Amino acid sequence: MEREYLIGIDMGGSEINAGLVDLNGKVMKKLTIPIDTKATKAKIIESIVFAVNKLKKDKILGVGIGIAGAVDVRRGIAIAPPNLPGWKEVPLKRILEDKLKIPVLIDNDANCFAIAEYKIGLAKKMQNVVGVLVNSGISSGIVLGGKLCRTASGEIGHMTIDSREKCSCGNIGCLEAYSSGAVIERKVKKLLNKKTITMEEIARLAKTNSKVKKIVADAACALGIGLANMALLLNPEIISVGGSVTSIKGFVEAAEKEANKRVRILENKVQIVKANTEDYGILGASSIAF
Ligand SMILES: [Zn+2]
Repeated sequence: MEREYLIGIDMGGSEINAGLVDLNGKVMKKLTIPIDTKATKAKIIESIVFAVNKLKKDKILGVGIGIAGAVDVRRGIAIAPPNLPGWKEVPLKRILEDKLKIPVLIDNDANCFAIAEYKIGLAKKMQNVVGVLVNSGISSGIVLGGKLCRTASGEIGHMTIDSREKCSCGNIGCLEAYSSGAVIERKVKKLLNKKTITMEEIARLAKTNSKVKKIVADAACALGIGLANMALLLNPEIISVGGSVTSIKGFVEAAEKEANKRVRILENKVQIVKANTEDYGILGASSIAF
């Protein structure tokens, strides 16, 4: 008997993660394709098509794509993804549907993440859910009353948490200027006088090097302030935190501790959890195609 599946694609700046997902939200098969930083748009689209064709099995109901930055969901246009330089108003849905002959949906990656947590993840059966992704930037998706809140911009990364550090957006004091992967990497590189560093190395160093530990602790503390603000505003049942930075042991826990110091006015503590799967990008993207 022919079975039905979905394909979820998480578009990162350095790789495409794709997966075949069954209708219960189980990842059946995965594929990662690295993207050259100089790759053209055509080349990247070709890689997406390759991934879908490679994973395709029985009947594919839809392909969901999660991408950083603003997305025109109705028309399926990636406005200007921050991790894909040179992409401007790319009608990804139309281009891919022409090539694949399968329905394609695209959405912001943090929206995908929040929907995945709500539909099949840690927030199953909850109604008010915030998903926060801490990667090189910080973004959020909000589910309120069981519905993805598209009118919320999800720009938690540019919420002002104090008035010192300059942010890449031009504002002063954004959360992203304290807690993002890019900022943590920059500080650790400066500390160790290194040209490059990976999040895995930082996660390792944070266990032994007290100065790295301090950089990470400060970043987690700032994230806690941002999450407290989010909690005071929305009072969600859960805030799930995912993204590359959460691979640092204790990062989310430290943010949770800080946040809960600041929300004593609320009746209940805010439940802040670390996303419990590495596949949330794939699952999130596939769940938008449900
Ligand atoms: Zn900013």
